[in-house]
Amino acid sequence: MDNLMQMRAYFESGVTKPYTFRKEQLKKLQQAVKKYEKQLHEALYADLKKSPEECWVTETGFLLSEITNVLKHLKGWMQPEMVGTNLLNLPSKSFVLQEPLGVVLIISPWNYPFQLLMTPLAGAMAAGNCVVLKSSEFAPATSAVMKQMIAETFDKKYILFVEGDGAVVIPEMMNNFTFDHVFYTGSTAVGKIIYKMAAERLVPVTLELGGKSPCIVEADANIKIAAKRITMTKFSNAGQMCVAPDYVLVHESRKDELVAGLKKCIQKFFGDKPEESYNYGKIINERQFDRLVKYLKQGEIIHGGRTDMEKFFIEPTVISNVSMDSDIMKDEIFGPILPIISFGNKAEALKIIEQNKNPLAFYLFTSSDKKEKDWLNSVAFGGGCVNNASWHLTNHNLPFGGRGFSGSGRYHGKYSFETFSHKKAVMKTPTWFDPAVKYPPFKGKMKLFKMVIK
Ligand code: NAD
Repeated sequence: MDNLMQMRAYFESGVTKPYTFRKEQLKKLQQAVKKYEKQLHEALYADLKKSPEECWVTETGFLLSEITNVLKHLKGWMQPEMVGTNLLNLPSKSFVLQEPLGVVLIISPWNYPFQLLMTPLAGAMAAGNCVVLKSSEFAPATSAVMKQMIAETFDKKYILFVEGDGAVVIPEMMNNFTFDHVFYTGSTAVGKIIYKMAAERLVPVTLELGGKSPCIVEADANIKIAAKRITMTKFSNAGQMCVAPDYVLVHESRKDELVAGLKKCIQKFFGDKPEESYNYGKIINERQFDRLVKYLKQGEIIHGGRTDMEKFFIEPTVISNVSMDSDIMKDEIFGPILPIISFGNKAEALKIIEQNKNPLAFYLFTSSDKKEKDWLNSVAFGGGCVNNASWHLTNHNLPFGGRGFSGSGRYHGKYSFETFSHKKAVMKTPTWFDPAVKYPPFKGKMKLFKMVIK
């Protein structure tokens, strides 16, 4: 707790507020990531068997691109935002200041153990905060490298790296110290625990949770493209991606063609032995492996299905004939198993989506503008893609976040800066103009008030 009190004092000294400080520290982070790139990639391989190329696109390079964007725009984002003033208050001027929140806590999961901790960090630093980082204990190799990198680069009064069992370490901090914001990425179940602890001290939260993200393939879709893009993101990181298509709803007239396309792409991307493929990852641990293996019995396997406990390997698998009451259709799959369900009309498909409300992501493959508009209007989801899957999260101009069951709040690019800043509203009123009408006695002024306030 002493560490946290020291961070509070450091923040209150005002050191972290100036633009120059923020810029310098972000540059330090940039340099540190470049210096540790090899070690980080090795650690990510040890934890999740990610290739260096995949690490670059989804972890280290992803963060560096985020930092480059922040550095380009930070000065502009920090400027007071001038806004109009209503008639009642003229000739006052009104503006909004972007104020750092203070000492914030960022908690991350194991599936993108680097990126999901460091991307919010870049936003929190840009906004002028002190930051406590809590990594996931389930990606220990990556956590160890990050810990060393952060300790070597920053004063622990500014950025503090915390490891350990989340169920112990996090309540210890949150129940004894009032953070100014908690930014949590992880499962919905733990998200609820975090939300409750934060509520006790009225701490604002961002919750980046999971959910079952549907992928619709309409009768008029380009099936070749759909198969390629779905295969690419569903089986990336062995399906352990929060925005991976969880299941596919395909129009019944195109199901066979889509299944054939998926099989062909899986073979092309990962070969006959995906367990030996450079491009294919592993399941993080035994607990997740056992959970996933159970799903394999809940439908008819039409491709894949092989497993190897020793290697935490589960083959890219396509499964059909799944019951809506089975766990595979109730839980977020979060692994390389893709259920294919056919639908006859949109109402049927919507009913299935409604069983798991507010998906984090939603994907639609269609060549019709009308269908696109209809679908985007009909489903309440966090973010998504048309004729693509998952890539929306790599565009820092788009807000990233869920809604309802898949979370609340958003980040990336300017949205991160806003998440970690308070919008302080200020009205500045000149003293040379001070009409008597604004002061008591008010009797008889109703007509005038109604003219001005309407
Ligand atoms: P996890 O088990 O690593 O937990 C996440 C964090 O919560 C860890 O730092 C852990 O220490 C902490 N934690 C665990 N139990 C706790 C407790 N009882 N009290 C306080 N803290 C606790 O990761 P996970 O939850 O298995 O992550 C997978 C989930 O995360 C999936 O549902 C996935 O969809 C979701 N996710 C969401 C996003 C997103 O951006 N929305 C990104 C990645 C993953």
